[in-house]
Amino acid sequence: MSVAERARRERAIVNAAAAVERCRKCEIGSLRRNSVYGEGDPCAALMVIGEGPGETEDKLGRPFVGRAGELLDKMLLAIGLPREDVFICNTVKCRPTLDDGVRLRNRAPLPEEMANCRPFLDEQIDIIAPKAILCLGAPSAKSFLGPKFSITRQRGTWFEGPSGIPLLATFHPAYILRMTGGELNATKRLVWDDLKKVRAKLDEPAVANDGAAVQPALFEG
Ligand code: URA
Repeated sequence: MSVAERARRERAIVNAAAAVERCRKCEIGSLRRNSVYGEGDPCAALMVIGEGPGETEDKLGRPFVGRAGELLDKMLLAIGLPREDVFICNTVKCRPTLDDGVRLRNRAPLPEEMANCRPFLDEQIDIIAPKAILCLGAPSAKSFLGPKFSITRQRGTWFEGPSGIPLLATFHPAYILRMTGGELNATKRLVWDDLKKVRAKLDEPAVANDGAAVQPALFEG
């Protein structure tokens, strides 16, 4: 990727993140401490999309930095991807919260919140134009594949995502962290199978619009 293209994407991301920071379309836009636009390589081959920021993410303004984030980092490293080489974000950019009278608790994003935030996510996918998308958990996958998507039956399968980008879903790291014993081992095996599929997809040679394999830079004239 050219230096100019990388710089263009970096500028586009800074502008888009500023628009997210100004957004107050949902009530959670006013309750959050920080918006969590997403982070990573603007030229990443893989985009990872979770559900929504939690308490730690809201505090730091960064995605997947709590316990689930630590596990995500390990999952990515297992297929040779340091966190900074991918782009990580969520379906919603503000922490969805529930006030139980004592403290603000995390909750799942409402369909309306996901819909309000969708233009930001679509723009993000357009800017990064990844080779593949990895959705973490059912809510993220359903936001692309529809409400009938079943994470237990359809995880680990490639689907056509936005702009024709291959999209695969696996279990959310927070879900894995809640498991123990045999169930945990079985789930880890399934996630590992899914991750290997992601690695294989990223290793496929890039194909030009005319169907020919793209020449490696070494041979460009
Ligand atoms: N869970 C998510 O879905 N996203 C985060 O950023 C953190 C935890």
